[in-house]
Amino acid sequence: MDFDTIAAISTPMGEGAIGIVRLSGGDSLPIADKLYKGKHPLAQASTHTINYGHLIDPDVNETVEEVMVSVLRGPKTYTKEDMVEINCHGGITSVNRVLQLVLNNGARLAEPGEFTKRAFLNGRIDLSQAEGVMDLIQAKTERAMNVAMNQVEGKLAERIQRLRQELLETVAHVEVNIDYPEFDAEEMTLEVLRTKGGAVREDIDRLLRTAHQGKILREGLSTVIIGRPNVGKSSLLNSLVHENKAIVTDIPGTTRDVVEEYVNVRGVPLRLLDTAGIRETEDKVERIGVERSRKLVGEGELVLVVVNQNEPLTEEDQELFRLTEGHDAIIIVNKNDLEDRIDLARVKEIAGNRPVVTTSLLEDRGVDELEEAIRGLFFEGDLETGDMSYVSNSRHIALLTDAKKAVDEAMTAAEEGMPVDMVQIDITKAWELLGEVIGDQVNESLIDQLFAQFCLGK
Ligand code: GDP
Ligand code: ZN
Repeated sequence: MDFDTIAAISTPMGEGAIGIVRLSGGDSLPIADKLYKGKHPLAQASTHTINYGHLIDPDVNETVEEVMVSVLRGPKTYTKEDMVEINCHGGITSVNRVLQLVLNNGARLAEPGEFTKRAFLNGRIDLSQAEGVMDLIQAKTERAMNVAMNQVEGKLAERIQRLRQELLETVAHVEVNIDYPEFDAEEMTLEVLRTKGGAVREDIDRLLRTAHQGKILREGLSTVIIGRPNVGKSSLLNSLVHENKAIVTDIPGTTRDVVEEYVNVRGVPLRLLDTAGIRETEDKVERIGVERSRKLVGEGELVLVVVNQNEPLTEEDQELFRLTEGHDAIIIVNKNDLEDRIDLARVKEIAGNRPVVTTSLLEDRGVDELEEAIRGLFFEGDLETGDMSYVSNSRHIALLTDAKKAVDEAMTAAEEGMPVDMVQIDITKAWELLGEVIGDQVNESLIDQLFAQFCLGK
């Protein structure tokens, strides 16, 4: 395909040792050559070389920057197009000036994600891989990064392709059965669907079962801390934040009204909600009443309930326990450095299958056990060993769910003795839905929408 030449700053904004301005498109080299002075013009440089020189502002004939310029000729590039990467000094003004120069000399400012979009449109990667790139940029933990990396490498796409192949073969079989009436078409169709259809359905199901963990890895597990005043909520928050590497939360374009903090607890990215609320109430009369807690519990995927071991269980404590029924929750019995006044057996009884951990946040004890409980609740040990093709993207989840439904319908239709071509329609539909995951069957506006979520320069 033939596109115009785009440019953007590809390194993060702000101070850094170097900054990179990236160009992609047929005019990348001619545009760069209008500005570049080195031993020879870039047009004469071999591909995949880096070239030392200076950038000259042609309007005023003045040296602007000392640069290293990478010459990358298509198709062996990120976008499959000719690309140029200008490495310059890292300050904002200098990178911006270089960008401005290439824009003044024929390049167009890239939209967010446009480089990756071109890689997709030029057929270098499929849509699930492109989405993997986006996840990679925003990955909050190393694990999330591995998952995204796998997607970028096309692991998910491979599995989807295999499934589609199976479905095609099923359709082909059904087709043959129609064409050879000496067979009992209905009977044969049923047979094929029971085996092949059943296998596909099982495999889609297996993928969908990874979605819960995949989604947590990708988006973080929204976590709330509740408890009566003075039991140690703020201490818990501080302990979680200080013990664990805080995660970069800066996702462009998202504004939320709850203040939140990200921490990485043994590979589980926690998104701690309402952290301001917990801190704000310090030294004031605490206002986290039951109503407020109820609302918080509704927003949290994980609820940490704190009670004080130094006091008998109150009616309010029990009310808070009740609120968390049916939620993933961990009960934290804090202040176990003080005299034991709580009925722990009773707490465990109320907790049922929710883990109970005793801590002294003051003396920093029990936090390891708590972290282990959090990890155990979400990754029962299988995360490390399993293959990493998690489905984490809600678009994929929706498509897979619909595809599974279509296969189901085909199988039911066959069992009920519906005409064979009806069965075929459902199988074809499943095949199409799976195609959308990898971008085989998507319309242009969806593509625009997806790529618009990217960062600039990617
Ligand atoms: P919150 O009101 O639930 O947020 O509770 P805070 O975290 O503000 O703690 C209330 C008080 O209890 C503070 O003075 C803390 O230092 C103290 N505290 C917190 N955890 C412990 C603990 O494990 N042992 C003891 N002895 N005091 C604690
Ligand atoms: Zn507090």
